[in-house]
Amino acid sequence: MDKFNGEVPCDKEKLRELPGVGEYIVSEVLLRACRKPEPLLDINMTRVVERIFSVKSAKKNPYKDPVLWSFAKMIVLKDPDLAEKFHFGILDLARKICRARNPRCNICPMKDLCSYYANSVRGRKVSTALSSY
Ligand code: SF4
Repeated sequence: MDKFNGEVPCDKEKLRELPGVGEYIVSEVLLRACRKPEPLLDINMTRVVERIFSVKSAKKNPYKDPVLWSFAKMIVLKDPDLAEKFHFGILDLARKICRARNPRCNICPMKDLCSYYANSVRGRKVSTALSSY
């Protein structure tokens, strides 16, 4: 922090220089402290994004995949307040409805937009589809 005169830099590259700071922390600082719209791609948001948009990272840890981060960046709302609400909404959705096991698609507000749900109502069982995630 001495390098930045004790202030948190609102610059992605400078934040990445800080020890122990990964991509998620960089985005969280930019969004919450600097009010810059950034995705907060953790394991939960990754699951929801992959299901809704039918995208699949080739990485073992998809929430660390730069390609998925780029995709997530495209869907983040440009207004930082809305982007923050979007993130918390996704977290709630992931925890209560779009769970890793047995997603509750029938009560999900996203089901009309969701590729995973569209596939499941076309005859694939949810539990079968889950095995590919
Ligand atoms: S419809 Fe199902 S898979 Fe799609 S976001 Fe909702 S809970 Fe998740």
